[in-house]
Amino acid sequence: MIRIEDKKKCCGCTACYSVCPVDAIDMVEDNEGFLYPKVNSTKCIKCGLCEKICPYNKKETNELDLKECFVAFNKNDKERYISSSGGIFILLAKKIVEQDGIVFGSAYDDEYLAEHICVDNEKDLEKLIGSKYMQSRIGNSFSQVKKFLQMDKKVLFVGSTCQIAGLKSFLKRDYENLICVDFICLGTPSPKVWKDYLDTFFENELITAVNFKDKKYGWNNFALKISTDKKTFCCVGKQTYYFTGYYNFLYSRPSCSNCIFKGNTRASDITLSDCWGYANIAPEMTDNNGLSCIVCHSPKGKNLYNEIIKDVNWKKMSFDDLIKYNSNYNKSAPMGERRESFWDEYNVLDKKELFAKYCSPQEIPTNNNIVKKIVEGFKRIIGVKL
Ligand SMILES: Cc1cc2nc3c(=O)[nH]c(=O)nc-3n(C[C@H](O)[C@H](O)[C@H](O)COP(=O)(O)OP(=O)(O)OC[C@H]3O[C@@H](n4cnc5c(N)ncnc54)[C@H](O)[C@@H]3O)c2cc1C
Repeated sequence: MIRIEDKKKCCGCTACYSVCPVDAIDMVEDNEGFLYPKVNSTKCIKCGLCEKICPYNKKETNELDLKECFVAFNKNDKERYISSSGGIFILLAKKIVEQDGIVFGSAYDDEYLAEHICVDNEKDLEKLIGSKYMQSRIGNSFSQVKKFLQMDKKVLFVGSTCQIAGLKSFLKRDYENLICVDFICLGTPSPKVWKDYLDTFFENELITAVNFKDKKYGWNNFALKISTDKKTFCCVGKQTYYFTGYYNFLYSRPSCSNCIFKGNTRASDITLSDCWGYANIAPEMTDNNGLSCIVCHSPKGKNLYNEIIKDVNWKKMSFDDLIKYNSNYNKSAPMGERRESFWDEYNVLDKKELFAKYCSPQEIPTNNNIVKKIVEGFKRIIGVKL
């Protein structure tokens, strides 16, 4: 029976929970707000499937041979603007729905926490657009994916690299009708910290919308935008407590510091990312509205990309450039130096004090004085640093 002794070796993918034939496993939140499997020993029949299915126990790793890379952005300005990067996901997803397929991705629940849902129509795809900077709860998605695959439906599953590894492990075999898309990942922050951040700084307010990567100040200076019934907060990410704590690696999942699923053994068909090397890779495509890198790892991935090619402006780029400017393709997120003391004080300090002590925003590392002035002006208006 599965027992998590080292938290760096559980990404919370739910493969064990989903495979258990007697529902003896629950996903239970720990003190940091991350979900881990917990076995009910009175229900457990000791079949060992949970340990076998765990992607950390897989011996075989397939080195990907196809790594065709493109830099691209969606030609539809609105779709591109509301997406986190170049708006590629929505195009891939629309193609699947057009073919009567199903798309799994991350949406907000009623409390603005991230959870995976499945969508079968174009209108609801909008719920999946945008990066949610916290770990997305998978729930029963893996079992649902399997059901749709067995019904011969085309399925697109979008998630972090570890979630895709878990799904593939759970499914045990390749399905021609399954396409998996992951993203280059800096690590997934704690949903509990996000919830406490909202409860602290938006107390007694009704949250009506959240965008972690609003492009009001430009894509490369993206802003965290939170709308409530009382105000709209919109501040450059790096100037907020939430992103500062994330960038200082105070509250990403412990397994993110030991990500064995990255690099060229990832289990996805396509990897999406921001094109942070834009100034060198594609200066002629750069207008600060969002530019993506797309890596096709399999013929299936390449075929789906070919289906959207008329809807994007694109050019080829080299794999070397991809990893040169986006080292998170290979590299795990480190554990922050102050991570341990942050959590030691989590329930001791008042949350405002805690965020001020550990997550005070750094200077924006940019020479763009206009952006700085806008941010400073905005902070003066609302009179608070969040
Ligand atoms: C936690 C996190 C860390 C990231 N780190 C990096 C990074 O270091 N470097 C980089 O270049 N890009 C990173 N990205 C990816 C980037 O922000 C864009 O999502 C990606 O480039 C695709 O952009 P898009 O405009 O095509 O699609 P978008 O509209 O952004 O669509 C994003 C897709 O990701 C899914 N998704 C959103 N949030 C989550 C989540 N929490 N868990 C699982 N799936 C989710 C959505 O369902 C959707 O399908 C990260 C994304 C997340 C969620």
